[in-house]
Amino acid sequence: MATVLCVLYPDPVTGYPPKYARDSIPQLPTQYDGGQGLPSPEAIDFKPGALLGCVSGELGLREYLESQGHKLIVTSDKDGEDSEFEKYLPESDVVISQPFWPAYLSADRIAKAPKLKLALTAGIGSDHTDLDAAMKAGITVAEVTYSNSISVAEHAVMQILNLVRNFVPSHEWAVNGGWNIADCVSRAYDVEGFDVGIIAAGRIGRALAKRLKPFGVHLHYFDTHRLPEEVENELGMTFHDSVENLAENVDIISVHSPLVPATYHLFDEKLINSMRRGSYIVNTARAEIMVRDDVVKALESGQLAGYAGDVWYPQPPAVDHPWRTMPNNAMTPHVSGTTLSAQARYAAGTREVLEDFFASRPLRDEYKIVDGGKLAGTGAASYSTDGNSSPGSTGN
Ligand code: NDP
Repeated sequence: MATVLCVLYPDPVTGYPPKYARDSIPQLPTQYDGGQGLPSPEAIDFKPGALLGCVSGELGLREYLESQGHKLIVTSDKDGEDSEFEKYLPESDVVISQPFWPAYLSADRIAKAPKLKLALTAGIGSDHTDLDAAMKAGITVAEVTYSNSISVAEHAVMQILNLVRNFVPSHEWAVNGGWNIADCVSRAYDVEGFDVGIIAAGRIGRALAKRLKPFGVHLHYFDTHRLPEEVENELGMTFHDSVENLAENVDIISVHSPLVPATYHLFDEKLINSMRRGSYIVNTARAEIMVRDDVVKALESGQLAGYAGDVWYPQPPAVDHPWRTMPNNAMTPHVSGTTLSAQARYAAGTREVLEDFFASRPLRDEYKIVDGGKLAGTGAASYSTDGNSSPGSTGN
């Protein structure tokens, strides 16, 4: 019998289950763009479209785990030594967490978890786990690669439009009973014709390019590896061999690289100031890719015309986190990858990984981040070989 410790975000303040806006979600093809198969567990015990990512949703896992004789503990209490998370860590064989409400699995915490064999991200991004420490402790780290990539790409499109069209202030005029069109439009532009730079042309970056191309923008990208020429031509993307060169030549940047030592605090005052005055940054990757206060300063001075994203550090952020109130922001809590549509996919992927893990079958290569004491599968491509030593994993 295994103990599975699952950290999920709190239930809706209005109670669980919520009143759903729709009765179903669309059925998708069985493969993602590029050929990877969607999650394929032997069975699921939830209705696709249900709220699964919060405590009462339990990722739809309770019936399955308990029928196999396992113990499932679900909590949202994840921070500090007195948290439920730390209380149950010593007896846990498996930890499941979502990047939206990350259970930071630092080296200290891993030392308190002698039975831990699997750290599973229900979603994408394992930077909340200290990968070096996981490798040393022989813990397998896995995530449900691709499960919410399109969800994030759609959010990035929305946030680019939001900023450039000055949507939030205009909406506020409407709901507050006013009608000052000049105020609404004095910061509103069309995105058509803008230079848009995408940092990292991975699954999300490429999906964003595909969705932005019909807007008639000029697409640019930087990645550590250049895409094949035919993909560049198909997406209409111009390659830049450094972030610095990309930053100088675009009006909008959307960030889609993982948080690794090379991207930690990449956007500092110098890089932001090298951009055209009035540029926009959208960041749905990880907050620590930015120097927090340099973003605030650039918005205050007008060097940046807007900043949007859904990733913060830490999560949840303090009530007085400056990104909540900085000018011209269109921030959301960390929601882009946890739509009800995305939850159906990553809950199914989580179930698939658990089925394989308990049957001692190898996990799909694309779901592996750390295995056998080293980076493996997707992890070997996405994370640096010296692990992920960013403060994202410390929980501070
Ligand atoms: P992928 O692994 O498909 O793509 C990541 C890309 O980043 C790869 O092309 C990789 O290049 C490139 N890359 C790696 N290091 C660098 C670097 N130093 N500079 C520039 N590019 C680099 O990942 P996804 O597209 O699926 O996800 C990207 C990130 O988005 C995740 O790591 C996660 O942090 C974030 N995310 C956020 C979500 C949200 O809800 N907001 C949900 C899902 C993901 P190569 O492989 O060629 O080395």
